[in-house]
Amino acid sequence: MTTTPNSGKVWLVGAGPGDPELLTLKAVRVIGEADVALVDDLVNPAVLVHLRPGARVIHVGKRGGCKSTPQAFIEKLLVAEALAGNTVVRLKGGDPFVFGRGGEETAALDAAGIHWEVVSGITAGIAAPAAAGIPVTHRDAGRGVAFITGHTRDGAVVDWEALARSGLTLVIYMGIARCEEIVAGLRQGGLRADLPAAAIQHATLPQQRVVATTLSRLAADIATHGIGSPAILVVGEVANAACTAEQAVTQHAAFA
Ligand code: SAH
Repeated sequence: MTTTPNSGKVWLVGAGPGDPELLTLKAVRVIGEADVALVDDLVNPAVLVHLRPGARVIHVGKRGGCKSTPQAFIEKLLVAEALAGNTVVRLKGGDPFVFGRGGEETAALDAAGIHWEVVSGITAGIAAPAAAGIPVTHRDAGRGVAFITGHTRDGAVVDWEALARSGLTLVIYMGIARCEEIVAGLRQGGLRADLPAAAIQHATLPQQRVVATTLSRLAADIATHGIGSPAILVVGEVANAACTAEQAVTQHAAFA
């Protein structure tokens, strides 16, 4: 790749799942060096304390009340800020390359000849189960793990039946709205009605909520307890361990 002369650099930085202490030291350093930060809405605002005075903040998420900023506009903005010679931090929830459109943004930067680097973050698919006491792998109960989105851009269908047969722990992002459909596909693929399942909302934040249940009851229990986005669904034997962690038990008791 040829780099455009005199252009600044873009750092794609993972801000972690929510708890601002789950930021990496490298993320803190890079945030502190930025001239401008483009911030997604799942990023905890507490992370912005690491910006230097005078750094500009541009919120590009939808939860702030505005409609979601179109992806093409974000990419143009990244390129324009870097071409102006700025050090740009693109702050994303979790990890930038896990369901974070990081790959689309780096392609746009490559096309414009802008130098970029990624700072990995702790993804919600690992941190949310952990915060509820669930290890995503276990020598006896989960030999591997699949990270899956419950929401596809073009309505493309996830092969839930194949995933059911994989024997992997299933960690589903953005799965709340389609939970019934997902459970039906997994049951079709042969997963037991009483297989442990859990939903974790606002993981690692004070308002974290955990529902520990079974596959067949997952959708109903989510509805009963009013669990909404952002939440992670976990399906597999390992979900049996939900709420054994001290923190999760407290949360669970508070919400029961
Ligand atoms: N890049 C992010 C994922 C972005 S997609 C990452 O690596 O974590 C957004 C989805 O992530 C949400 O719909 C939800 O499924 C999940 N998510 C993000 N933060 C979460 C949190 N604190 N608790 C539970 N789920 C979360």
